[in-house]
Amino acid sequence: ARVRQNFITNVRKFLDENWEKREIKSIQLSQNDNWRYCKCSDCMKDIYDYGSPAGTIVEMMNLVAEDLETYNGGKYSDIYVITFAYQYSFDCPDNIVCHDQVMVEYTIIDKCFQHAINDPECEGILEVSPNWSINVRSNVEVCEEFEKWAAISKHCYLYDYSANFRYYYNVFPNINEIYEDYQLLNKIGAWGYINLGVANYDRTGAQTYSSEWGTLRDYLLCKVTEDVDMTFEEYQAHIDEFLQAYYGSAWTYVREYLDFTQQLADDYGGCFGVYSTPELMYGDHPFEAKSEWLVELFNNMLACSDLTDEQELHIRRLKVSCDYLRLGSIHQAEMGSGDYMRMQNQKNAIRNFYIDITQNLNMPWICETMTVPSSGIKWDANLRTWINKTTVHYYSEK
Ligand SMILES: [Zn+2]
Ligand SMILES: [Zn+2]
Repeated sequence: ARVRQNFITNVRKFLDENWEKREIKSIQLSQNDNWRYCKCSDCMKDIYDYGSPAGTIVEMMNLVAEDLETYNGGKYSDIYVITFAYQYSFDCPDNIVCHDQVMVEYTIIDKCFQHAINDPECEGILEVSPNWSINVRSNVEVCEEFEKWAAISKHCYLYDYSANFRYYYNVFPNINEIYEDYQLLNKIGAWGYINLGVANYDRTGAQTYSSEWGTLRDYLLCKVTEDVDMTFEEYQAHIDEFLQAYYGSAWTYVREYLDFTQQLADDYGGCFGVYSTPELMYGDHPFEAKSEWLVELFNNMLACSDLTDEQELHIRRLKVSCDYLRLGSIHQAEMGSGDYMRMQNQKNAIRNFYIDITQNLNMPWICETMTVPSSGIKWDANLRTWINKTTVHYYSEK
């Protein structure tokens, strides 16, 4: 009870002190970014009654919202009290509903991005490596949980990730799934959405430039949430119109690259999440079989004569994802070929990749928390192994 009273007092104090200084429409009162929640006997009893640690959070948010109905003459009664459904609070509680002013941000970080959210074939996957383990939930489970949240909350927000947070240079093949996911989630009751997608090109506050479809994804999310009855053909037309503007006359080649990566992931068929290795999306040695075709494809893009400087830059940034997966995949074959020219070409390509990400293209971020070490790379080392070692991510060359 004392914790609760302190909490409410602090919210009141914050609003009193900041109300005149800026426009406040909501107050974010979320848990910390970890799995540690209070396990005292009072809380554990509540958690048992609600069936989820989220119950204690919703209870607290409701108390705040109720207090704001009348505090200071009801001055703050219209603001939203926002809280996450995330990690330990992901599962919707029983026996409680949210106050009308409580907004739930439902994080779809645990979902599988290979399958659409209503795909019954999606089983999820537990990925275990020597350094960490990651659980990707089955989408049926994610969808059911969202349905429950939407039923107890008037304002349910989606908090989407939609990028590969451990492998920024990887292509995250979820473009077609976005269409199905958002149509369904909107119909269930998503009131709005935030797309975190750290590696999104030139968005304010973005960490780095996307080496793949960061900006396209933002565009498509806007389109598909504006018109929830959009057909799949209309969705595809929006992809094309974006590619035409962003990559100029090279756009048809870019579209081939997009379709190739989507198809490769579909053919492989495995579940994957926002932290998964490229191998979980594409299988071992992704891009190896199509290496020569990919080299030619990107040469064709860059050979288009009427590109603007920006469009050319967009293509070169996109090429980073291709080189990353391709060079890692063909490394053993090239360096073990005994052919001097092939070995030399491979070394040059690795060298150019390194110079591009560190100097020409300003894309030094490997993942959420690490940049390329300034110590450089050995030109005869496998690019993937080298980068994954840097980020303590396991990679098998064989
Ligand atoms: Zn407690
Ligand atoms: Zn799946």
